Amino acid sequence: MSEELARKFHEAYERLAPSFGYETRKETRDFDPTSANGMLMIAVCGELAGDLEAENKRTWEHRANSLARSYAPNIYSCKKCGNPCISGYCCGYCGSNSPSSTVEEDEQEVAEWQRFDSGETRSG
Ligand SMILES: [Zn+2]
Repeated sequence: MSEELARKFHEAYERLAPSFGYETRKETRDFDPTSANGMLMIAVCGELAGDLEAENKRTWEHRANSLARSYAPNIYSCKKCGNPCISGYCCGYCGSNSPSSTVEEDEQEVAEWQRFDSGETRSG
């Protein structure tokens, strides 16, 4: 996976370099996954792919949370531990028997998710 990405990156890099007035080095023009340059490219692509995957997972989780909340509006942040809990029930994470946040706090939380969904990053 990382090698395939590195190979594609390398091919696009070599193909686009002349249109930016950049001449690439002759000795690294063909992608060689066993060279130091090739191994470095694969390692860099592996890190970036991992970051993107984690970011996609976070985005998916947040969207799933927003969707769940739109069907079950009585999910609040536990005021003790911050995890999601359902109004009227004990917190399943910390066991608090009065976990509901105030309506005001919950509205702030919902506004945070909406900002996240609109593309801004979550602040807390
Ligand atoms: Zn809790």
